[in-house]
Amino acid sequence: MEKKNLDWANLGFTYRPIDYRWQTRWHDGAWEEGGLTTDPDITLSEAACVFHYSQSCFEGLKAYTTKDGHIVTFRPDQNAERMQNTCRRLEMPPLPKETFLKALDETVKANAAWVPPFGTGASLYIRPVMIGSGPQIGVAPAHEFLFRLFAMPVGSYFQGGVKPIRIQVAQYDRAAPRGTGHIKAGLNYAMSLYPTMEAHRAGFAENIYLDPSTHTYVEETGGANVLFVDKDNNLIVPKSNSILPSVTRRSLVYVGEHYLGLKVIERQVKFSEVKDMKECALCGTAAVLAPVGMIHSEDGDIYFPSGMDKIGEISGKIRETLLKIQSCEIEAPEGWIRRIL
Ligand SMILES: *Cc1c(COP(=O)(O)O)cnc(C)c1O
Repeated sequence: MEKKNLDWANLGFTYRPIDYRWQTRWHDGAWEEGGLTTDPDITLSEAACVFHYSQSCFEGLKAYTTKDGHIVTFRPDQNAERMQNTCRRLEMPPLPKETFLKALDETVKANAAWVPPFGTGASLYIRPVMIGSGPQIGVAPAHEFLFRLFAMPVGSYFQGGVKPIRIQVAQYDRAAPRGTGHIKAGLNYAMSLYPTMEAHRAGFAENIYLDPSTHTYVEETGGANVLFVDKDNNLIVPKSNSILPSVTRRSLVYVGEHYLGLKVIERQVKFSEVKDMKECALCGTAAVLAPVGMIHSEDGDIYFPSGMDKIGEISGKIRETLLKIQSCEIEAPEGWIRRIL
């Protein structure tokens, strides 16, 4: 298979319509057979539920080339399951796991020429999305839904090396205490756009949100979970039922515990404790793990001992180990790597 002639090392993270995407519709109580299509556009009624009542959700994962030349994806069953949980909370019909995986396999195979070669740091970013597509004016769930999975090649998150980032404590809430913080709903992002732009305007990469009822405990950022390493080199994982269960975070924690022998403590983390932590990192599919060098808050700035120049020792080890598992240079736990080609 001839690869596309792209500047793989400098792709950035931008939308680019490629050859194929996969679509199915739900109506009259069932999903259609579904399949590949070449049309990047979707035509919808002006009354589609998604436009008015934000009935939409999504997932994000990557396909990439391993050192030995196979095209694989990482734990896509976890994305399939999470999307089902999201759908249930939004009164949307959960897509069967097998359909999700079939859409994924077929789309990646059909677009194999767009999957970046090994060693470029680039990958094929995959975006499954579901919307309430049926017309709906009274406030109620749609009667028709559309699932689409599309993809595009994207560059390495860290062009020019891994550098610690600066983040700030948000002056806004990300999720209501008994709301939708734990699911991957588009609406969680709509309300974060303004605080995110404010953070950028103030010179910070991201907002870190505190728990919405007491503003005492650490939750996560707009699109990534948070991890800490304490003075005794324990991996500290903030716990809350309004944090989105990141596949990357759960994988890093597993790697820390089972590959590196770290003690993992999942518990509520007071923001007042953060100044005593040794390392801080964000995790998600896009960056895998991004080291945090400092956190700005109204009570002063916290600089982590790992500094602003390089990733902390423990964060670096966990990150490297997971990357090697993903590229199949180290053996992965059972079921983590789905080989597509
Ligand atoms: C998607 C997402 C993450 C990261 O999850 P991964 O499965 O690791 O990509 C973290 N927080 C939020 C709010 C998210 O939407």
